[in-house]
Amino acid sequence: MFHQYKNVIEDGDLVVVYLNPESMLTATVKAGGILNNKYGSFKHNDMIGRKYGTMVKSHDGKGFVYILHPTPALWTQVVPHRTQILYLPDISFISMYLDLKPGKVVIESGTGSGSFSHSLVRTIAPTGHLYTFEYHELRAETARKEFIEHNLTDIVTIEHRDVLANGFGKVGIADAVFLDLPAPWDAVASAKEALRRDTIGRVCSFSPCIEQVQRTALALDEHGFADIRMYECLVKDHEIRTLPMPDIEEAINGQKVNFKLNKNDRKKRKLESGTSTPTGEGSTSSEVMLSKPADQARGHTSYLTFAILAPEVKI
Ligand code: SAM
Repeated sequence: MFHQYKNVIEDGDLVVVYLNPESMLTATVKAGGILNNKYGSFKHNDMIGRKYGTMVKSHDGKGFVYILHPTPALWTQVVPHRTQILYLPDISFISMYLDLKPGKVVIESGTGSGSFSHSLVRTIAPTGHLYTFEYHELRAETARKEFIEHNLTDIVTIEHRDVLANGFGKVGIADAVFLDLPAPWDAVASAKEALRRDTIGRVCSFSPCIEQVQRTALALDEHGFADIRMYECLVKDHEIRTLPMPDIEEAINGQKVNFKLNKNDRKKRKLESGTSTPTGEGSTSSEVMLSKPADQARGHTSYLTFAILAPEVKI
């Protein structure tokens, strides 16, 4: 369901219930079921047969919610956290830099809460495969259950395994390896073994501190990886503003335009200065929307270390 889309909500579907931008939850739709939250009481029967994305009103008239089709991006926002997780800015950056696309084979460790796994699956579906490894037994079991419930088992295989002690146990099959581990340098040899040698292999390590980046980079270099580079993915908000654009007449007359005034204030000011009629006739000022970047960038979770493994040349 996470890598396919359908239009109509059916009995048994896992859905994302959108309450507001800060609040979403998941529910499994069952005929006769009731969903209760702060916006009221919602009958599952009011959802079944309707299109995904439509609004459903509460039975007791208190409010409404939207029923959305699950996607990896939404899952990242609602997934029950068993660990720290990867968020969308890092997910999209890593997926692009690892050159992931349908058909690719990827190795991931650790699985953690499966946030990144769901995005990986959608990116490589329908012909690729994800092998994901987790040494914490309960986390591995919980992720396995979720993959089954989400119908992803044809694309993802999860293994309960300590990859730092025992490696990945895969040879020459992966296009890319992603490491989110406490000691990624100890997984570099096994990552190399797992990568295909007939094409470029790619690796990415996600580490919160620079000392880990340094050790990983040294290990990558020692094992013959090239193009080793580190990125930090930070989020910068853009504030959208509507600004007045002086028309030619105003500009020629040297009329000062106060960019901080809103539309009503500007109208009032024009009326006060006698440059506009009460109906607005004669005023040809237009407006333009601009985005202003916030000064501070936020969102450091980790550093991303990338490297490539050149294909073996057979002479
Ligand atoms: N990227 C994941 C996500 O988006 O949900 C979160 C990964 S979490 C931060 C790191 C995981 O690595 C933990 O669940 C931990 O149990 C697992 N881990 C740590 N050492 C490991 C090892 N030696 N072998 C396999 N998994 C390991």
